[in-house]
Amino acid sequence: GDFEQNISNNGDDELAELITAFNQMTEKLAKLEKIRKESASDLAHELRTPLTTIKGYIEAFEDGKISLDQENIDELKEEIARMVALIEKLKEFAEAQNKVFNLKTEKIQINELIKNVSKKRQRQIKSKNLKLNLELENGIIIEADRDSLIQILNNLIENAVKYNRENGEINIKSYQENNKIIIQISDTGYGISEEDLPYIFERFYRADKSRSAKNGGTGIGLAVTKELIKAHGAEIEVESNKSGSSFKIIFPSFKEK
Ligand code: ADP
Repeated sequence: GDFEQNISNNGDDELAELITAFNQMTEKLAKLEKIRKESASDLAHELRTPLTTIKGYIEAFEDGKISLDQENIDELKEEIARMVALIEKLKEFAEAQNKVFNLKTEKIQINELIKNVSKKRQRQIKSKNLKLNLELENGIIIEADRDSLIQILNNLIENAVKYNRENGEINIKSYQENNKIIIQISDTGYGISEEDLPYIFERFYRADKSRSAKNGGTGIGLAVTKELIKAHGAEIEVESNKSGSSFKIIFPSFKEK
């Protein structure tokens, strides 16, 4: 009767749900794999482009087609600077990889660190005419590796500057909630699309390719940031819409032993 019908319908529904979930998972895995391949090849491409340009200049000079005047030299220097910046980032990535297995934790006054790191960004913040607001709860101490924490904050604040609008704002908060310590860094930039959001912590992934490339992005910063955060037993969360992005680092609260 009706009852049996119900049971078998439920069974079918569950199976259908499982199949859908499975398909979605497979799709997501395939997409991740594709992103990894594309992104690594983007990076290789980005290293090769300046080299090709430099090679072109040198050959043209050799053939007597151009003279090495100041303008050409500046052009060459710019290409070299781009490569150096990229290699710097790769080095940072390799170092963070080692760091993950070698954390030297100590008690850190988080607010002091936030102030110091943001001070070092003053020039960039000014040049974009951004307003930096700090809202720091008194006396928060966490047990963490100082270098890692500096790198984490640096990366998130750097992005909050890079991907912000002119005359925008950066808000940094620290507070305790439900036995957790939270550092929140939000900006008033263009945000990250819903499509890109699940992948921004992947190595070499860049959302909005043109804007990221223009900003000298490599897609390494957030991958490093996330690994360092995980190594501390902490979490990172992101929310974003068209009027800005907000990153939360969530530390388990530090208990005096
Ligand atoms: P990148 O060197 O490209 O900045 P990240 O790993 O730091 O690399 O970030 C990955 C991508 O995520 C960036 O290319 C950018 O598209 C996006 N992104 C990161 N932070 C922000 C932010 N605060 N606002 C908007 N987009 C961001």
